Amino acid sequence: MAGIYLHIPFCKQKCRYCDFVSFAGKEDVAEAYMACLLKEIELRGKELSGRTFDTVYFGGGTPSVVDPKYIYAAMRQIKKCFRLSARPEVTIEVNPGTVSEQKIAMYKRAGINRFSVGLQTAIDAQLADLGRVHTVRDYLYCASLLRGENFSADVMIGIKGQTRDDLQKTIEVAVGSGAKHISMYALQPEDGTPVYTDYLNGELPDDDEVAALYDFGRELLARKGYARYEVSNFCKKGCESRHNLNYWRRGEYVGLGVAASSFFAGRRLLNTTDLDEYMKCTLSGFFPVIDSEEVSVQEAKFEFVMLGLRTVYGVSGRRYKEQFGSDWTEDFAAAYKRTRQYLETQDDVTRIRDEYLFVQNKILSEYAP
Ligand code: SF4
Repeated sequence: MAGIYLHIPFCKQKCRYCDFVSFAGKEDVAEAYMACLLKEIELRGKELSGRTFDTVYFGGGTPSVVDPKYIYAAMRQIKKCFRLSARPEVTIEVNPGTVSEQKIAMYKRAGINRFSVGLQTAIDAQLADLGRVHTVRDYLYCASLLRGENFSADVMIGIKGQTRDDLQKTIEVAVGSGAKHISMYALQPEDGTPVYTDYLNGELPDDDEVAALYDFGRELLARKGYARYEVSNFCKKGCESRHNLNYWRRGEYVGLGVAASSFFAGRRLLNTTDLDEYMKCTLSGFFPVIDSEEVSVQEAKFEFVMLGLRTVYGVSGRRYKEQFGSDWTEDFAAAYKRTRQYLETQDDVTRIRDEYLFVQNKILSEYAP
């Protein structure tokens, strides 16, 4: 199975913590950009005509900020140019400050059957401080439009001033609104963003406080019936994100749009992050790729182990042997020995013990080539 990712790089305003390739105040070029995206879909579709894709994901940026007719057109082009499986999972990221009944209806007509909604926190003052364009009330309105749909809510931990009570309220809002999937992830203060200054000023919770918030949130989610299947992802039974599972299983994916990355035929590709360059390339009939490299066997082995250990599905020794013809605990003998106390093995599958999943980065760094 394989996935398709489409990057829609426009936002109403830039959040204070954001270092994604997204542009505020450039909606006027959205029409031209989306036309270029249709061109890239056509070009890449021809190249990959032999493959079947099981998931489509509109991410960003804020896909819900552009006119929904462009999303409809992109989806129609995807169906025309790529072969999709019988029941593909088609997701769109939605910012609660940019939705309407008409938009949701149009998305559903386009074939979108999963929604990822950025709640982040149920405390309005924190939303404002993060630079989000929506309020908790906007989120509740958005969730009411999605009642009965398969939707996920993003919850952030490590926000300035965030208490356990704040996190509890946020999770309760997400659960009460009907989200079947919850992504709970830690704020990363990236250098160059305004939030980085907060971090330097010592205004953000430290690592131990974030870890404690995570444990608190994880236990609360478990009590509410959301099982963890990856370090930041929790869901009701059967509501895992198929698109993300494909990434974590080292499945192939094609990324379309500015700054999108791809992995297929043993190669990694990266599109330009420059909006003008992206549009010029695609309009001239060229792929907007600025980097393309073959994944070595050593890198492939590391990815297999790293991606497996990130999830509760772990590393299957049998599948590793089928792919690489060797034993992963021997290929990574030194790292395996050093991290063994954090791991558990059942049958042929090795996982990070539940209590260590949040500090997985330290464990995984032992395996890096
Ligand atoms: S909505 Fe998302 S992509 Fe846009 S600025 Fe905020 S965090 Fe970045």
